[in-house]
Amino acid sequence: MDIKELHSKQQTFFNSNKTKDVSFRIEQLKKFRKLIKENESELYKAIFEDFGKSEFETYASELSLINHEINLFIKNLKRWSKPKRVATGLANFPAKSYIIPEPLGVTLVIGAWNYPYQLSILPTISSIAAGNTVIIKPSELPSKTSAVMAKIINASFPEEFIHVVEGGVAISTELLSHRFDKIFFTGSIPVGKIIYQAAAKHLSPVVLELGGKSPTFVLSDCDIKMTAKRIVWAKFFNAGQTCVAPDYILVEKSIEQKFIETLSAKIEEFYKAKGDINENYVRIININNFDRLEKLIDTDKVCFGGEIDKENRFISPTILKNVSFDDEIMQDEIFGPILPILSFTNLDEVIAKVKQRPKPLSCYIYSKNRKTISKILHEVSFGGGAVNDSVMHLSNSNLPFGGVGLSGIGSYHGKFGFDTFSHFKSILDKPLWFEANIKYPPYSKNKLKLLKMLLK
Ligand code: NAD
Repeated sequence: MDIKELHSKQQTFFNSNKTKDVSFRIEQLKKFRKLIKENESELYKAIFEDFGKSEFETYASELSLINHEINLFIKNLKRWSKPKRVATGLANFPAKSYIIPEPLGVTLVIGAWNYPYQLSILPTISSIAAGNTVIIKPSELPSKTSAVMAKIINASFPEEFIHVVEGGVAISTELLSHRFDKIFFTGSIPVGKIIYQAAAKHLSPVVLELGGKSPTFVLSDCDIKMTAKRIVWAKFFNAGQTCVAPDYILVEKSIEQKFIETLSAKIEEFYKAKGDINENYVRIININNFDRLEKLIDTDKVCFGGEIDKENRFISPTILKNVSFDDEIMQDEIFGPILPILSFTNLDEVIAKVKQRPKPLSCYIYSKNRKTISKILHEVSFGGGAVNDSVMHLSNSNLPFGGVGLSGIGSYHGKFGFDTFSHFKSILDKPLWFEANIKYPPYSKNKLKLLKMLLK
């Protein structure tokens, strides 16, 4: 596929105004929903072949969110896309004012590999719901899921409206040489900077959904059993290859030992119930990531797990203790099934340490003390998070999902996704039957007095 031609076809199609019709958009969303349903087993098969992900996890973390968002858009699109009346003010009496949501144009979605369907399709749904055309560039790493998305989507939608382009850096770079009306990127911070630079050449607006090291505070008054259960699930789901996974634990020294024992018991229960790590546990995406993660396991600090099998790209759920902020594992996002535990005695000191680092995508607080919870929420900046839970905030479409600082720019999910892919056109609409005449020359002292009164 010639990228230049594809881009130009999408521009022409957008300019035909067809996508501006709300019933067209709803029809396309329904078509998308049907497509996902009809091809469900093929989608499961591809992702299993790419990294051993079970049907349960694929449905829970990918398809369910896609279905939910499509249904939400179908239900609300008419309302969301209507012009919204706002107050006008005396200076423009008797005009009315309204805001018209309008689509941006040709958009580009570049996806990451860890939730390959969700991260490419959710932004696409928001974009078409808002009335744009979309070129999707999924991650090339899970090659089977990339191929299945291209096959299914390209066979069902005309290329001038939605088209999947497969490939890696070269194709991404080529796409970025064109001007898009919005670039929606999910991926790492270093590549995010490359995308931002390429977009700046065309003054293209961007959403950057990036990563970072998400801290998890575990306070001595927490419910240890429930805390361990929720953290183990959130950390080892997708083998830790989740942008909002708890990256590291900050636990109060007084409960550290008990907490580690409870975490370990939970891992045994979830993943080793049948004596060995069972099929519920995902493999590492590729050898590069496997090698990177292997180097991060400081064997002197392993207090649980640490089993690896290179041939199968397997790393068991691993806990490291006595970790300090200076350790190698604390320098970059882990993005794998290794959980470092850092203990603390002084909350202010540990908050200060967190604040010296880039603002994370997420943060989690496990405590029963509302004052402590409020203190951390007030003092630490992060994209989004949860109190006494982890990861699940992203499943609520009423919450904007996105980072802050180095963890990202912009947000989506639900109405926030619609807004992200829309321009809000401001209109002042004035009748002809009245004219105040104050603004017109010749100016006078009396006019100025009146103006000051009106424009207060
Ligand atoms: P990545 O940055 O390596 O790749 C993301 C996409 O960018 C891929 O489609 C890839 O082909 C493309 N790409 C890579 N190098 C490029 C270049 N030089 N020029 C242009 N395009 C390029 O990220 P990844 O390994 O796929 O994903 C892991 C990262 O994504 C982690 O940091 C994780 O935290 C983050 N992530 C964030 C979210 C979120 O919603 N905020 C979700 C999932 C993953």
